[in-house]
Amino acid sequence: MTQMKTINKKRIALMASRNPKSEAVYNQLFTTLKDAGFILSSKQPDVVISIGGDGMLLSAFHKYEHLLNTTRFVGVHTGHLGFYTDYRDFEVQELVENLKLDRGAKISYPVLRVVVQFKNGEKISYRALNEATLKRLSKTMVADVMINQVHFEQFRGDGLSVSTPTGSTAYNKSLGGAVLHPTIEALQLAEIASLNNRVYRTLGSSVIIPKKDRIAILPVHNDRYSLSVDNKTYIYDNIEAVGFYLDDTKIHFVATPSHTSFWERVKDAFIGDVET
Ligand code: NAD
Repeated sequence: MTQMKTINKKRIALMASRNPKSEAVYNQLFTTLKDAGFILSSKQPDVVISIGGDGMLLSAFHKYEHLLNTTRFVGVHTGHLGFYTDYRDFEVQELVENLKLDRGAKISYPVLRVVVQFKNGEKISYRALNEATLKRLSKTMVADVMINQVHFEQFRGDGLSVSTPTGSTAYNKSLGGAVLHPTIEALQLAEIASLNNRVYRTLGSSVIIPKKDRIAILPVHNDRYSLSVDNKTYIYDNIEAVGFYLDDTKIHFVATPSHTSFWERVKDAFIGDVET
């Protein structure tokens, strides 16, 4: 009995996208969780429930990324089944029941660490759940690409993207990158419109890099660059190098008994039911 009470003392934060469907789910969850004895608080939550789509989960991740070690996430989708969302809007009751029975089980996925090093020696670092993309603002980006301190190639083109396994189905896929199962701990480097001719040469395909390896991109020209980290974009100049590696911390999701298989999600999102 005492144990049950402690479990229901779980602190839960709700975040919803701004549309009527998400707001309705927010209200329903708020009332149901409160009635079940959970503490609804946006401060130091044990569980963050994001209501909306994958974009909303990205926002929830960034809001609580400083608490990744202690916080688990749950995604409720108010549209199609997403890649970070285990529940649909009509499964609120099921989610609350699962949270009541929850004993801390989690599913964890790798997160990308991005470090921007400036010419004056300063550094800024970010975490990405999907990917980070570097582009030169005004002209063709020319950059040296190092993989584990090996000068791999000199890239010329629009830019380069480095994605996580869960991000492999996002921008990376549009760039022709491979879809990676999220349990594979690796990074993927994908080109954005590379220039390839008799003078300039890059690999031309994406590369998948194991967890211990690091990627560094060194822009040749001292110019303005955009660095997109998931759904945010930053503009910088005086960049010496941008480093990419898998972070020590992972994102943890509340384990769901009826967890949809990754391949089911890929099929649902990109193939659908094709008549044969
Ligand atoms: P958005 O609203 O434009 O969403 C883009 C789409 O990407 C949405 O349909 C979303 O559901 C989907 N998505 C997000 N994460 C995904 C994932 N891990 N796997 C499969 N699909 C995923 O933008 P947003 O909500 O701000 O999301 C930012 C993300 O958009 C970025 O992280 C990037 O991956 C993606 N993006 C894609 C392209 C492209 O495909 N050409 C271009 C820019 C950004």
